[in-house]
Amino acid sequence: MTGPVIGVLALQGDVREHLAAFERCGARATAVRLAAELDAVDGLAIPGGESTTMSRLLGVFGLQEPLRRRLDQGLPCLATCAGMILLSREVRDGRADQVALGALPITVRRNGYGRQNESFEADLAIPRLGPEPFRGVFIRAPVVEAAAPEVDVLALHDGHPVAVAYGGHVATAFHPEMTRDDRLHRLFLERVAGRVRAA
Ligand code: GLN
Repeated sequence: MTGPVIGVLALQGDVREHLAAFERCGARATAVRLAAELDAVDGLAIPGGESTTMSRLLGVFGLQEPLRRRLDQGLPCLATCAGMILLSREVRDGRADQVALGALPITVRRNGYGRQNESFEADLAIPRLGPEPFRGVFIRAPVVEAAAPEVDVLALHDGHPVAVAYGGHVATAFHPEMTRDDRLHRLFLERVAGRVRAA
């Protein structure tokens, strides 16, 4: 089989759901826990889960520096919820020791939707994906409080970006891996394929 290989960072969180979504899209997807596995992928999904736990495990598994290096070289990422937090440049209300990989020039506030609204679903207009709304599943989601002008905002909810694209990255405050709607996974795969072809 040909085509790019997609890794799913498998330290914690919605790993199986991302692997299943990529498989439904016909992509080759594999779990990544080791630096050698990270070296072998063309794109990486960083799942939803708990960003502080994933931060800590990046250290435990010796993945933090290898991941930073690959991001510097342009590794595209699909980062959902906790993954979006990890990939961002600035994290508010994070733990002092939590990692911000800095590859996505946005500022997020962890758990920013507040107690009353910790978890909710909303139909999101994402014109890039066509006229059908995308069901956004938000679970203790981060609020994107600022984004650099070069960040492409794909969807807004209550005035805040909830899906963005930047370089090869696609990031969401919600969990596309928890629905059977694979359009954001496909959008990411197109971006990865474009970069692999251009290399
Ligand atoms: N609140 C979580 C965090 O800070 C993210 C929640 C999620 O991924 N569903 O990492």
